[in-house]
Amino acid sequence: MKMLWAAPDGAILEDSRRAALGRSGNEVREPRPEELSPLPAGAVLQYLPARTARGLGRRGSVESGKGYAVAAMLPNGWARTLLPAYEAPPGVAPLPFFGYTAVALRGDEMLVAAIQTEENYRWSPFQYGTPDLPDLVARRLAEQPDNRLLTHHAHCALDYGCYNAQNVFYRRWEGAVAVSAACNAKCRGCISLQPEDMPPSPQDRLDFVPTVGEIVEIGVPHLESADAILSFGQGCEGEPLLKADLIAASIREIRKATSRGTIHLNTNASAPKAVARLIDAGLQSIRVSLNTVTSERYAAYYVPQKYAFADVEETVRICRAAGLQIALNLLFFPGLNDLEDELDALEQFIARHRVDQVQMRNLNIDPDLYLASQPPLVGRAVGIPEMVRRLRKVCAVGNATPGIARAIQE
Ligand code: SF4
Repeated sequence: MKMLWAAPDGAILEDSRRAALGRSGNEVREPRPEELSPLPAGAVLQYLPARTARGLGRRGSVESGKGYAVAAMLPNGWARTLLPAYEAPPGVAPLPFFGYTAVALRGDEMLVAAIQTEENYRWSPFQYGTPDLPDLVARRLAEQPDNRLLTHHAHCALDYGCYNAQNVFYRRWEGAVAVSAACNAKCRGCISLQPEDMPPSPQDRLDFVPTVGEIVEIGVPHLESADAILSFGQGCEGEPLLKADLIAASIREIRKATSRGTIHLNTNASAPKAVARLIDAGLQSIRVSLNTVTSERYAAYYVPQKYAFADVEETVRICRAAGLQIALNLLFFPGLNDLEDELDALEQFIARHRVDQVQMRNLNIDPDLYLASQPPLVGRAVGIPEMVRRLRKVCAVGNATPGIARAIQE
């Protein structure tokens, strides 16, 4: 398998003298066959600025090539198995917030270091950004011209290509409702807010608090559509639990109007008492975002303000006791989450709380920036395919949120 590299004009070329390499944590190695797949539809290739591609030379040593490293960004439902191998000069500016994935060339076929964790037509890129979307958005905005939240999600749907925001206008499946401008964490890879000395966040954070009326105007018609899930907590906002009373009041108003569909929350799960209030109001499903279940690594990435990982676990415990659908939104990183100790801890967490599903999410961050903030990587990494195999023995592994997953099975 040959290494790929990029010329300054962006052309992607084969290196005939070097074999492809990938990176797991800090280890640079050849990809294993089970770690590779043909480049999936919807993947995007990109070169890494100021990073030189690295490959395996004919004498068996790791060599830097002559051009930029190349990486793939994966569509939903694909889990990265290896990071790209590259050499970065000291002090180089961090990469923008994407999930950089190793690539290789076998004959004429482009390969990517990834495995598919779920094939779900509802998350296929072909279902989104369709030619009729701008008209659907314009028509809905004309129906509810004063709804600021609808205007905000129109921007997410058209300018960011957000699937959940688009679903509000398609009136189907998982639809977005953002509520919180503030957060109680400072995630190093936050996609809605970054400090000035970092690359810009991919999305702008919501800058107002919607009213119950604005939320209900979106929520009721959405839940009345087929297989609908109304999803509080989106990438364009802070932490929704900081607006738990607003969400609880909205759920109660929505449920006066319709009993259909699933009401769901995407959250950092930092406030167990707030989640208990939402369950009382009618919350049915939760997806907890975390990069690990080990508290030191969690704190190093989330930088929690006035809460700790113990609160996250307590929230999960409360949700299990109340019978909610529970998914973990696992922001995983090859060479870290598949370390033996990390994987053992995750399996135990899943078993302890009978977690229904793990959603494997590629952590969108410069790999060097992430590892620099983490405690050292110790022990053997089993590889992402083996990690997924082991997780499937204790829960479902996929990408659709639980309410939808259940609807699909029915
Ligand atoms: S919890 Fe979410 S909104 Fe808050 S800092 Fe982390 S990624 Fe950003």
